[in-house]
Amino acid sequence: MPIALVTGASRGIGASCARALAADGFDVAVNYARDADGAARVVAEVRALGRRAIAIQADVSQEEQAAALVARTETDLGPIDSLVANAGITKDGPAIRIDGESWRSVIETNLSGAFFTMRPVLRGMLKRRGGSIVAMSSVVGQIGNPGQASYAASKAGLVGLVKVLANEGGARGVRVNAVAPGFVTTDMTAEVPPQHAEMLLGMTPLGRFAEAEEIASVVAFLCSPGASFITGAVIPVDGGLLSR
Ligand code: NAP
Repeated sequence: MPIALVTGASRGIGASCARALAADGFDVAVNYARDADGAARVVAEVRALGRRAIAIQADVSQEEQAAALVARTETDLGPIDSLVANAGITKDGPAIRIDGESWRSVIETNLSGAFFTMRPVLRGMLKRRGGSIVAMSSVVGQIGNPGQASYAASKAGLVGLVKVLANEGGARGVRVNAVAPGFVTTDMTAEVPPQHAEMLLGMTPLGRFAEAEEIASVVAFLCSPGASFITGAVIPVDGGLLSR
């Protein structure tokens, strides 16, 4: 059975990705940073679909922890066929007021954390000559959003990263893509001020926000044989936001 590692899978989009991949036949390693109960629930849901699952605590912004996460997945489940680098945080505020520590923590989690996880996974995939890596970017990385300088920079950084890795992995059949969601209803967006949410809704042709499952289905597609000729792509899943 194919093996997937999903970072930040204790809730939200990552949890939906774990369930969608399990439904497609993957055994899944469910990474989390703090929410052990959430991760345990996702593990139970994956097992209920008849697949193997384990929860692994690791802060992906710490290089050694990310490496240990990948090693533990491969020891307990087997070689990783698909990685979803999904873990992410926001620390919003006007650019002129962001302090260095807050800037660094967003970049280190969203961008460095993805790289620290992708690199050891990529090494194995290159040896085995195949695999799929999906990074969770955001439309914000392409159009910006007031108050999200560090977040937008991290998500734009992921676009550059997947394009480089797609080039480096292509000759050995490793595909590397990004998904760029618009506004998705999760804990992360629960705190967005109503006025700002209204403005985003007005900019979204489909006139609503996404459910996490609508992002996960695209991620699962990118990890499937149906996406065998897609690499280096950034797929918008944004209800049309980018077309405005
Ligand atoms: P969420 O509900 O806040 O969940 C975030 C997940 O990331 C949690 O599982 C959390 O683990 C994990 N995480 C945070 N820091 C981590 C770290 N250092 N190491 C490992 N895991 C860590 O967020 P979400 O809305 O599902 O977002 C998931 C991804 O989609 C993020 O990359 C986000 O930027 C991106 N995205 C979201 C939206 C949106 O509108 N929601 C739009 C575009 C892109 P714990 O539960 O253990 O803390």
